[in-house]
Amino acid sequence: MLVNIYNFIVDILFPLECIGCKRKNFYLCEECIDKIPEPNHEKLDNIVACFDYQHPLIKKAIWDLKYYNKKLAGFMLGKQLGGYMQEEISELRQIHNGQKFIIIPVPLTKERRRERGYNQAEYISRAFTESFSVNIFELHTDIVIKNKDTGHQARIHNKKIRLKNMIGAFSLNKNIDLNIYVKNRIIFVVDDVTTTGATLFEIIKILKKAGAKEVYGIAVAH
Ligand SMILES: [Zn+2]
Repeated sequence: MLVNIYNFIVDILFPLECIGCKRKNFYLCEECIDKIPEPNHEKLDNIVACFDYQHPLIKKAIWDLKYYNKKLAGFMLGKQLGGYMQEEISELRQIHNGQKFIIIPVPLTKERRRERGYNQAEYISRAFTESFSVNIFELHTDIVIKNKDTGHQARIHNKKIRLKNMIGAFSLNKNIDLNIYVKNRIIFVVDDVTTTGATLFEIIKILKKAGAKEVYGIAVAH
């Protein structure tokens, strides 16, 4: 609530300008986006990310989205992710004969969601789906549930501890008909940042176990 009021006042006092070059009426303009590199470290299996998280503009945009409820940041990032994946998605669509793909934003715990008031991965997911000219996605926020807070995974450097921390962190919603929404479906799990891939890997594992045909993790930054 306070953040919303703060944002409202800031928007009036300081009209939108690009966080990179201060150009008016953009949150982040195309020219600045073009300067942001793709992730330059080793690719994670079945995970796609479009920007290098080390770049200050991406760090800033994700920070704005996560902690200051800047929907525009989420919207811009989701659109970019969609643009980045146009070809891959249309190929998949041809292979799978026009069936709809399921989009699942990485969930927050109930408590965290209440505290923050929104889930940033949902903003990204919505903009992602809207960046395709045809409606080929079903967005579902209630298939996967986060049961416990896993803290800052990136700060846990020991891989074993990180994976142990993930055990039981997510589960599938028992009130959802998995035969319809998971079994034999192509699913994309969307996150803002992936560092080690631990969160996305865990959710991919759960969905695969429940019979999903193919599951991919997609993130704005890595
Ligand atoms: Zn700019």
